[in-house]
Amino acid sequence: MSAAGTVLSAVGGTYQIQLQDGRTIEAVLRGRIKRDPKTGGQVVAGDNVITAPQPDGSHVIESVAPRRSQLARRAPGAGRARQKVIAANIDQIVVVFAASNPEPNSRMLDRFLILAESNDITALIVLNKSELVSSAAAEEFLAPYIQAGYATLRTSVRTDVGIDELRSKLCGSSSALTGPSGVGKSSLLNVVEPGLGLRIGEVSEAVNKGTHTTVSAKLIPLTCGGFVADTPGLREVGLWDVHADDLGTYFPEFRPLIDECRFDSSCTHTHEPGCAVRTAVANGSIPAIRYDSYMRMREECTS
Ligand code: GDP
Repeated sequence: MSAAGTVLSAVGGTYQIQLQDGRTIEAVLRGRIKRDPKTGGQVVAGDNVITAPQPDGSHVIESVAPRRSQLARRAPGAGRARQKVIAANIDQIVVVFAASNPEPNSRMLDRFLILAESNDITALIVLNKSELVSSAAAEEFLAPYIQAGYATLRTSVRTDVGIDELRSKLCGSSSALTGPSGVGKSSLLNVVEPGLGLRIGEVSEAVNKGTHTTVSAKLIPLTCGGFVADTPGLREVGLWDVHADDLGTYFPEFRPLIDECRFDSSCTHTHEPGCAVRTAVANGSIPAIRYDSYMRMREECTS
C-alpha cells in the first residue's frame, strides 16, 4: 500500500522518509521520477512524497507533492535554472546569534535575512545567551530588526528565558535553524526537544570549511509536531547569488519607500536625487546600520 511521508534526508540517492504513522523508512526514487528533469535528483529534505513498498521489502518514492516553499541558493552568476535547492517546504528561517560569546554580528545577520527574503521565507531572529548581557544591550542589537518588522526572541538556555516561546514557534512548523558556530543552536534544540541528545557543537558543524560545497539539509522531527532542518550549507552565507537590482527589495523597511523614490524601482538608493530611502536614513526612520549593510552588500552582488 502506498504511504505519504516527509523526506528527512537525501544522501547519495537514498532517502530517509518519515511516514505519517511515525515510522521511518529508507527509499529510492522510482526511475520515472529520476528521469524527470523537474524533480530528478532534486528531491530534498522537506519534500512531501508518496512511497510504495516493493515485493522485495524495499520502498520507492512514487511521486513528489508540489512545494509550498523552497530554500535555494544559486550558483555564482548562474540563472534560476542552476539553483541548488537545500530544503523544501520550510516555513521559517530561525537565525540564532549569541548576545555575547561570540559577539553578535549584525552584518552576518543581515546576510541571513537576505537569504530568507530572497526565498520569500519568514525569518525569526533569536538572541541566545541573553543572560550574559543587560537588557538594554540586547535591545540595542535587536532594535533595527524590530523596526524593520522582524520577529525577534531573546533566549537563554541557562535561565530558561524565552524557551517556551521558542518551542511554540517551532512546534507544528518546519524551521531551518541557522547561525554561526557556538551561539547555542544545539543547546536550544536539546531543551526544546528533550531526548534529542545532540552533542553540544554538533548542529551544522559538518561544513566543508573553506569550500563552497553545499551540504544537504537534514530534518529533525519534533515530538510536538513539525521539523527543524539542520542546514549546514547555509552557514557560508555569501551574496554571490543575489542580483544588485533586487537587493533593496530584500530590506523590508526599504520596500514601502521604493515607489516614492524619484526613479522608483530603478533607484539604487546610493546617490540618486529624490531617493526616499536615503531621506529615511537621514531622518533616522531607517537605522544607519541597516543602510550601511545595504551599501556594503551591493558591492558584492551580481550586477
Ligand atoms: P552551536 O555551535 O550553535 O550548536 O552551539 P552549542 O549549542 O554547541 O553551544 C556552544 C556553547 O555555548 C556551549 O558551551 C553551550 O553550553 C553554551 N551555551 C548555549 N546556550 C547558552 C546560553 O543560553 N547561555 C550561556 N551562557 N551559554 C550557552
